Parts: sequence; structure tokens; C-alpha cells
Amino acid sequence: MRSIAPEQARICLGCWDQMHMPIPLRGLLALPFRAFGITRSKMNPNICTICERSFTYVKKQRHITADATILFADIRGFTHLSGQLDPNALTRVVSQFHDQCAQAIWSEGGIVNKQMGDGLMAIFNFPIKNDRHAEAAIRAAIDIQRRCKRAHRGLSVPGGPQLDTLPGVGVGIHAGEVEIGEFSTFRSDFTAIGGTVNLTSRLEAQAAAGEILVSSAAAEAAPEQMAAATIRQLTLKGIDQPVLAHVLKDVPAA
Ligand SMILES: [Zn+2]
Repeated sequence: MRSIAPEQARICLGCWDQMHMPIPLRGLLALPFRAFGITRSKMNPNICTICERSFTYVKKQRHITADATILFADIRGFTHLSGQLDPNALTRVVSQFHDQCAQAIWSEGGIVNKQMGDGLMAIFNFPIKNDRHAEAAIRAAIDIQRRCKRAHRGLSVPGGPQLDTLPGVGVGIHAGEVEIGEFSTFRSDFTAIGGTVNLTSRLEAQAAAGEILVSSAAAEAAPEQMAAATIRQLTLKGIDQPVLAHVLKDVPAA
């Protein structure tokens, strides 16, 4: 288990874990690298931009199979919320959501791989390795709930918007094999695809505001974090068998 405070690593943790190459990210040693366009990744400030491409260009492979934990999070009831808030307040809610999620994910060594409006996808155990990636993702999810609750409380101020409910966040987590690579011909970003990613997205879609839905595979790898979970049987789109979700809720605000 390793927790890294964001904005701290002096070398790229991804390059080190994957290739044992020390690529400086901060300080004087980083300057010549920056001249060649190698800088900190927007997905996680503790990895570099060559990391994002290393598996296509350095290893000369189109994609690799990796064991990872995937996390999806989004603002529940966003469409309803858009009808209640003015555009400025709405933008503030979305940017707070992304900021709070990123801090929680980075401090557990994950990367924010995709941001999709009111939602995001994170990967744990790639490119920064962590044998206990399911635990890290669940801790990040609990932290996301705590942080977002605190941030959203700031919306209910006297004279502020009259909301019937404060925005809440839903999270889905699953662990398994994913295909990692660049699957787009016009963007040079890596991402993860496959059944593990699809199931995570489907779990997240079933999470109510404030809930974290964890698959059995991820929950079994993190018994300590899941001690307070309840079990819920779900019928998910595109999946024949019912799926058991381990549900965490009522995470206290930070
Ligand atoms: Zn790197």
C-alpha cells in the first residue's frame, strides 16, 4: 500500500514502475525534459506525458493487458440540477466535482483517465503500480464522497440557489483485466477498454447519490474497506446473470 500526496513525486512514478526509468518531473533536472515536451500529465501530476504514450512507442505494442481497478463517478441527477442552477453555479458544481475527485484519486496513485462532463473514469494500478489497487480505489471513492459532500454543502447558503436536494455523487468500482492502449486514430491518449470497464460503468449507473457500488471481485480484494457494506442484487443492461453489488453509503462529510 502506498499513498502519495499529489504534487510531490520528483520522478515519474509510472516510468519508474513500468520501465525503471527515472524521468524527472520537478526541479532543475526536469527542465531539459520539458524542452522536449515531456512534462507532467494532466491525468496525474506524478506521471509524465511520455508515460501516456510509452506502451505504443517504447514497447512497440498496440496495447497491453493489465490487471487494474476501474472507478467511475458522476454527479447524480445532473439533468435535474441543470434546470435549477444558473450556468455559473452549474459550472462551479462541475469543476468542484472534478477537482475533488482528482485530488482523491491522485492521492491513492490512480489516474483520471477520462472526464466526461458531469462524470469521470479513473484507473488504478496503471501506470503507477500498486498490488492493492482495489483497496486504493475504494479509499479514493470514500474520499470522493467525503470531499464532494463538503463542497456541495457550500451551495446551500442564504440567498443562494433554492435547491430541493443538494447534488450527490454516485461511484462504481470493479477490478479485473483491461486492455490498455491507444484506441483512437486521432487522439494520442491511452485508455482502458473491455468487459471490466463496461461492468464498472453499469455499476456506477445504478449507484444512488452518496453510494459506492463495488463488484464482488473488487470487494473481495478489500475486506477491510468493505466491512460496512450491504449486498444488493442488480440486473444490469447487457449482462445475463444478476450481479451482486457491495454497497457503501452514508460516508460522513470531511
Ligand atoms: Zn512517465
